[in-house]
Amino acid sequence: MKIDRLRAYPIAIDRSEVFKIATGSSLTAENVYVKVESGDISGWGNSSPNSVTEETTESILKMLRGVQNEIQGADLEIEERWDELSRRHPHDPSALAGIDIGLYDLQGKIEGKQVFEIYGGKNRGVVTDRTIGIMPLSDTVEHAREYVDKGFTALKIKIGLDLLEDIKRVAAVREEVGGDIRIWVDANQGYSVEESITLCHKLADLDVAFVEQPVKEEDLEGLKKVTEESSIPVMADEVMKDHETAEKICSQEIADMVNIKLMKCGGLTGAWKIVDVLEEYGVDAMVGCMGEDVPAIAAGVNLCLTTDRIKYADLDSHFMLSDMVFEGLEFRDGKLWLSGKTGLGIKVMEDKLERYHMDLEGVV
Ligand SMILES: [Mg+2]
Repeated sequence: MKIDRLRAYPIAIDRSEVFKIATGSSLTAENVYVKVESGDISGWGNSSPNSVTEETTESILKMLRGVQNEIQGADLEIEERWDELSRRHPHDPSALAGIDIGLYDLQGKIEGKQVFEIYGGKNRGVVTDRTIGIMPLSDTVEHAREYVDKGFTALKIKIGLDLLEDIKRVAAVREEVGGDIRIWVDANQGYSVEESITLCHKLADLDVAFVEQPVKEEDLEGLKKVTEESSIPVMADEVMKDHETAEKICSQEIADMVNIKLMKCGGLTGAWKIVDVLEEYGVDAMVGCMGEDVPAIAAGVNLCLTTDRIKYADLDSHFMLSDMVFEGLEFRDGKLWLSGKTGLGIKVMEDKLERYHMDLEGVV
């Protein structure tokens, strides 16, 4: 089976609310959808520009333009394509993820299977958290109440700018939502090692499940020290890129868990390579997101269904968009459900695709 065509669709959709974290805030979400075709069957993937991998809509389009000719006409051997592209484009993991996810959607549709089925997974709902950005205490509590009322059973609270205020915010949310709702926090590198240790002890009293990346990405020793002294599990995120960094984190016991993000590791192929490392060391993970839209979120759900190593899902960035271009991914009873359609389980709405398409030069 050959890949006949690759196309890119840069898309801009307003966020339904401003989202602020320790490293910045944004109003509009840009995404690049990647469409790959074989005969009359199409697969859809999704690349998300982001500050972590330092990819922009322009850099993603440039990468896709550069590889278009070699992809078109190549065999649909996804791992082979991934190995070649990741070796030659190590700084474009999000662009690579768009291609990779699109190819899995295509393969599933060709085989008449859902992507997780190809890997022996079974369909079920996946509990996702809803993230609360950094905001004043009363707004934090209001958002927590709203999300719990909408059915979310897990909340992720962004922290990292003010230690005492953060502890108060988390305590207020715990009081508001009660003990049945799971809470975890993400400091996005906002604290020193000492602050992080203090924070973790306080959060343990509030039944917080874990803390994400409390210290700077480059401070591996610091992260390890926090992990050793913390009374709650510590998850590596910004420092955790791909299967090679997973190996380092696991073998040196730098963190208790890792956050797998498809945009950082080059899509599903990269994620499964990480899962292999986690299996070897018996380390658990969360699947996270970085502003991506429905195709990549659906890929994250498919990923969860193929391994028991992923214990948590933070697959909520599509909820922050004011509109959807794809249908098929449903949120019900606190969980994300795939539609049962082949591939990733999603379907593009052409009128919406047209509406949000950015008019840029050099689009492939
Ligand atoms: Mg994080």
